[in-house]
Amino acid sequence: MEKELRYGYVDDLYETVMGRKKPAALDRLEEWFPGMIVTEETSDDKTRTAARYDDREDRIHAVRVNGKLYTSDNDRIAQITGRLIGTASSNKEKERRTAERIQKRLAAEIAEDSSTAAGLLDNVYAHLTEMNNEQIQRFYEAVFGYALGLITVEEGESTLFPMDEEVYSRIVYNAVYQLHTGTGGGLANAWLWLLCGGLLRSEAGRITRIYDSAWTPLFREEGITRSLADKVDYLLHPEDYEPYYWGDDTGKRFPGIAWYCDGCGAHLDEQKGFDDRLPEWKCTACGTVNTIDITHIYENEQDYRSGAGPVNARQYYAAVDKRRKE
Ligand SMILES: [Zn+2]
Repeated sequence: MEKELRYGYVDDLYETVMGRKKPAALDRLEEWFPGMIVTEETSDDKTRTAARYDDREDRIHAVRVNGKLYTSDNDRIAQITGRLIGTASSNKEKERRTAERIQKRLAAEIAEDSSTAAGLLDNVYAHLTEMNNEQIQRFYEAVFGYALGLITVEEGESTLFPMDEEVYSRIVYNAVYQLHTGTGGGLANAWLWLLCGGLLRSEAGRITRIYDSAWTPLFREEGITRSLADKVDYLLHPEDYEPYYWGDDTGKRFPGIAWYCDGCGAHLDEQKGFDDRLPEWKCTACGTVNTIDITHIYENEQDYRSGAGPVNARQYYAAVDKRRKE
């Protein structure tokens, strides 16, 4: 059975690859969102080891005992963390609302302060650095398999924190896109997206709108249709799609292409004297020399930035030729 997008299921992938027995809830949250949900305290008083939840701060205060964050069977904390991790099934409304407040606070902290987002990504990189090559490979395959499974997963009827379809699609698509780049950065980004989606659920909509170079949300919205399954299919199997060009500028060397400066981003087509038949063009705004050829055409800015590679030349020319003959 495919697993829903839940923090616990996401974290399980890591724990399994590392061969660890499933840690307790507080440790699992602290692992990927250090200091954001749990405030760790030191206690000299051996009788005061139980964790407590502070309503004003929306934070859990806990003490580490024998390497683990200790809850001392505090039922309220177990209920709150169970909801954040996504495994609790009871219907205690008070704890659900508390977990929701934590979700809102975390989403705001990540969206409003780019150093918080960058810090989370650094933490993921630190974990990846500790893995050996074989573990990285198994981890990559497990995360990719899980992300693909999310495309068709059906959520339960009485789902805790139901997720807005658009937010869900963005997160799953971004994760698949990042993994498809086959890079370490892609793996780290995808992992963080899945963790945030599983933990914050619909509140994650706030962070899909940030655009920070250190932590790259990718919006490649121009799919064949709006459905998540089709967009992912187009991403993974572009060869199955016959490209079609409908523009009327077929007199140009590269119909339908807008040229932007690699140096300053200026729209070169609008600069005086620009002609796409030239082999290169010196930007009149910043002086950068831009090569004008097929290997410098990208489907969109995200492909250019992420290193996903230029457009398929054969497909591009085939679509343009077809249009010219019409
Ligand atoms: Zn320029």
